[in-house]
Amino acid sequence: MTATVLVLNAGSSSLKWDLFAAPALTSLKSGVVERIGEEGGVPDHAAALAAVLDELGEDRPAVVGHRIVHGGRSFSGPALLDEAAVAEVERLVPLAPLHNPAALAGVRAVAERLPDVPQVGAFDTAFHQTMPEAAARYALPAWCEAEHGVRRYGFHGTSHQYVSRVAGEFLRETAGRSPAELKLVTLHLGNGCSAAAVSGGVCVDTSMGLTPLEGLVMGTRTGDLDPAAVTYLQRSAGLSAEEMDRLLNRESGLKGLCGDNDVRRVLQRAADGDADAELALDVYCRRIRKYVGAYAAALGRLDGVVFTAGVGENAAEIRRRVCEPLAGFGIALDAAANARRSKEVRRLDAGGPVAVLVVPTDEEGEIARQAWGLAGVG
Ligand code: ADP
Repeated sequence: MTATVLVLNAGSSSLKWDLFAAPALTSLKSGVVERIGEEGGVPDHAAALAAVLDELGEDRPAVVGHRIVHGGRSFSGPALLDEAAVAEVERLVPLAPLHNPAALAGVRAVAERLPDVPQVGAFDTAFHQTMPEAAARYALPAWCEAEHGVRRYGFHGTSHQYVSRVAGEFLRETAGRSPAELKLVTLHLGNGCSAAAVSGGVCVDTSMGLTPLEGLVMGTRTGDLDPAAVTYLQRSAGLSAEEMDRLLNRESGLKGLCGDNDVRRVLQRAADGDADAELALDVYCRRIRKYVGAYAAALGRLDGVVFTAGVGENAAEIRRRVCEPLAGFGIALDAAANARRSKEVRRLDAGGPVAVLVVPTDEEGEIARQAWGLAGVG
């Protein structure tokens, strides 16, 4: 029987799973258990895992890879989830109060049901741990970092790592470029949005910070904001810390600006002449352009811009609105290439100095690759 890798992505009320066949790591099947701990659902993550294992039948995985949101400074790559690693993920719970406990529940459920199967954690923060200290530090008193861990960790790392690697391979094969010398800006535009500056495959800056709230405008998150707006609104609108948290994370972004967070819907409304939707798109795309410019400056040169995730892969109009005003920086889109829909890695520029690429992301596949690479028992 072929060895398989099971990838688990545990949220507070859902468990997504993907089964891959090693060593090629082709996807065999996938699914999601929803409403964990809710009415009409299974009681907990252990029961959710039991449901997944039932679905797998005879397919007992050789390795289990877990998506873990926060790895703090401790994990700069995938890690075998031994006792010490699990304790460290536990220690980081205050920085990711919804996500890390869910992942830990998944790890414990696997340990109970499949005690001999090695488990590997792949961390959203890991790829960004190469950021220079100057990119990672906020200009706060040192004790905020030393005593409370307040620094920039970055997220979506698995996706930025995957798409920057694939973009490098693509440009080597199609344009004879050396991946080790490429300076790329990767744009993960989904419900959450983030940018990364990647030099020779190594992350040197990214837009998300202590939490996944900083940086780009997102579906329901503000991204960058004058921090004084937070304290000002707390006082003037009488908002508690919890209410503020909710406002910034769930009621802002595109949704706050125009009432809709689904980019398809916002684009449709703007096309129909809706001024709020048009403004929301302007704020969203301007922020992306500012980050492309900032990261070109941080990298010292720009060889490519890579679009990925739901919006980046599918929304030609967003790519056009981001790239067209940047033509003066050598970022020139080919309109026909941009309009073409495909699941393939593809190049959208008209042959200018800056390659513009779409690389469909594959976070589960990348987690499987990392888990197999670390614990492969083939
Ligand atoms: P997540 O961050 O949850 O993984 P995705 O990467 O799937 O999310 O991205 C979801 C976003 O992608 C939604 O805002 C949706 O509007 C957007 N999206 C998906 N398809 C399209 C499309 N054809 N045009 C514009 N936006 C799209």
